[in-house]
Amino acid sequence: MSGGVRDDGRYRGVIAMREYVWLECTACGDKNYRVQKETRGANRLDLKKYCRRERKHTAHKESRKK
Ligand SMILES: [Zn+2]
Repeated sequence: MSGGVRDDGRYRGVIAMREYVWLECTACGDKNYRVQKETRGANRLDLKKYCRRERKHTAHKESRKK
């Protein structure tokens, strides 16, 4: 038994990098939703969401605020 310091990487998953991105309507460009997503290895978001301006569901894709 080699006890002592444990280094099993249990914290690596906990401190996952996260950021807020906007979901932008692809039809009118309005940024309607803000969502949190993981920075690393995450796919670009592409969702059907309700657009208040157009009053219907449209495709929204992520847009970084910069
Ligand atoms: Zn729209």
